Amino acid sequence: MVELISGADNTMEKKKLNIALIGYGGMGSWHVKTLSRIDEVNLCGTWDIDPVRREAAAAEGIHIYGSQQELLEDSSVEAITIATPNDTHLPIALAAMGAGKHVVCEKPVALNSDELAQMIRCSEKMGVLFTVHQNRRWDEDYLIIKKLYEQQTMGKVFNIESRVHGSRGIPSDWRNQKEHGGGMVLDWGVHLLDQMTMMLGNRKPQSVYAQLTNVTNEAVDDGFRASFQFDDQLTFLVEVGTSNFISMPRWYIQGENGTAVIHDWELKGEIVMVSDWEKRDAVPVVTAAGLTKTMAPRTDETVKKYPLPKVHADIRDFYRNVRASIHEGAQLLVRPEEVMEVMHIMEAIFRSAEENCVVYL
Ligand code: NAD
Repeated sequence: MVELISGADNTMEKKKLNIALIGYGGMGSWHVKTLSRIDEVNLCGTWDIDPVRREAAAAEGIHIYGSQQELLEDSSVEAITIATPNDTHLPIALAAMGAGKHVVCEKPVALNSDELAQMIRCSEKMGVLFTVHQNRRWDEDYLIIKKLYEQQTMGKVFNIESRVHGSRGIPSDWRNQKEHGGGMVLDWGVHLLDQMTMMLGNRKPQSVYAQLTNVTNEAVDDGFRASFQFDDQLTFLVEVGTSNFISMPRWYIQGENGTAVIHDWELKGEIVMVSDWEKRDAVPVVTAAGLTKTMAPRTDETVKKYPLPKVHADIRDFYRNVRASIHEGAQLLVRPEEVMEVMHIMEAIFRSAEENCVVYL
């Protein structure tokens, strides 16, 4: 039966998107909760290879399919969300698209650009939608920095630093196994690099120099640092760490006339801007071994502090857009070519780290 929902203006009715989920683990259960808060979609059921996870889903009242095949053969299912470990995305996506289903795949979409190219070719051949859950495009910390960059609030921006720091090492599940697509470049790097490419739009990185860390794990990277050079001397640092008992700020952005910082997930931070360039006099800082005027802190009357701008985002717009793309031909928000761009950047990071060299992009 086709379910209908009222349109925003109540003058038309929209057909709901019937979606099924493969993989009911940590992120799969997040998708279920999110889908339950969206009027425009209907969750048909789920399949997970682990009976314990199937039971957990059944306990939540979710329909359980008998197999992946049974799920794909359900003709009422229009789209599939894939929320399984990274190495399984390719075979599941190809099977789902081969069965004529639209696909929403978790990040990182694949282990490398060859796998992603296969997925894109399959979606084109089958004429189905293919997108990736780059949900952190809806993070407010990112949107605040994007706004500061776009509006040049602090004058011309010349440096941006984006970091996520934890102190628990890499998780002890499939994420620390290479064959499952573990490692922090693929896990967190993919989010931060996607944010970087979306923020800078047509400005593409010219080169990258990257280093990986293996503090808690030998098999895969448990952190990395990647330094990008853009045109006009813009630099962008992306850093992920899992052995940081003191975290560095989530964001740090410098313009010619000011600096902004976002310290944490709670969006604590501020903008500090010069209010009078002419007042250059500084009281020297004297340490036991010397003195400096250049690095002396500014006095209060030459700088002004501002709160961070307010932004608003609703992550449900991701699935609303998937439905609108499938049913109404709306432009996709997360396009395969954008995902490919990030995949190439991740490959450049691995190459730079392995060969200890700058990679030109
Ligand atoms: P998880 O280990 O908690 O869950 C994975 C689930 O997939 C498990 O229940 C497992 O039994 C099941 N599974 C494994 N192989 C399967 C197969 N062939 N068919 C069906 N089920 C299968 O992992 P997770 O943290 O939920 O991560 C899953 C995916 O989601 C990964 O790609 C991860 O990178 C991504 N993820 C994304 C975000 C985000 O913010 N977008 C956050 C966390 C995880």
